[in-house]
Amino acid sequence: MQVSNLQLKQCACLLLCLNDCHATDHTGRPATDMSFTIEERGRPNTQDYRVFFKNSQGKYISPFHDIPIYANEAENIFHAVVEVPRWTNAKMEIATKDPLNPLKQDVKKGNLRYVANVFPHKGYIWNYGAIPQTWEDPNHKDSDTGCCGDNDPIDICDIGNKVCSRGEIIKVKVLGTLALIDEGETDWKVIVINTEDPEAGDFNDIDDVRRLKPGYLEATFDWFKRYKVPDGKPENQFAFNGEFKDRDFAIKTVKSTHDFWKALISKQTNAGELNW
Ligand SMILES: [Mg+2]
Repeated sequence: MQVSNLQLKQCACLLLCLNDCHATDHTGRPATDMSFTIEERGRPNTQDYRVFFKNSQGKYISPFHDIPIYANEAENIFHAVVEVPRWTNAKMEIATKDPLNPLKQDVKKGNLRYVANVFPHKGYIWNYGAIPQTWEDPNHKDSDTGCCGDNDPIDICDIGNKVCSRGEIIKVKVLGTLALIDEGETDWKVIVINTEDPEAGDFNDIDDVRRLKPGYLEATFDWFKRYKVPDGKPENQFAFNGEFKDRDFAIKTVKSTHDFWKALISKQTNAGELNW
């Protein structure tokens, strides 16, 4: 079949149009491609191992500062960075003091840190990670817990069924929060579910977790209370008598840590050794 120049041009035009349609959201504004890739350097389980993040253009970005907090602000869907996949033990975390903030394994007294298996748990019992563009300000005393922040982005525990991979960026629904006091610092643990979980629609608040995954909240409390005991530390303490707060409270908490982050990057707060 002969294809005329005109037909080719029409074809190209249609393709451009299709691309263009993808490049705008329903409001007509350019939609940003929120896909991210990771680049591992060094060998896992060594002190040199790092996981770097790149955006859809292949540019290196910081998972702490450059990934938007919201996947959908109107619906309170947040991004989360998976640091530790469920049932693994290596304490991987966003290196807040290193340029580009890659993931690296925490080191204590010269040794790579692994959480112990606290019977009957195996490693971390959720996909564990952090919400980008949040910060628990170490100079701010939380009015609820009476303790200052731990100088990190706010932590999440994803209760979805999928075992995520290290460095995966997921979209999550916030369900509640537990106020851990870890060695005298406020360390919120936000309970979330991956929006891609087939059952995500059934989970909208902390009571849904209690009802649909019986035992999971109790296991979560038990895990955080005892996870440092095998390392010779005392049991952790909790604010609110160890009760889980509900979705609305948790969303308010996440948003307040976003405000602390905004003050941090606009230099209204002393960043200390933090980097980006
Ligand atoms: Mg923390």
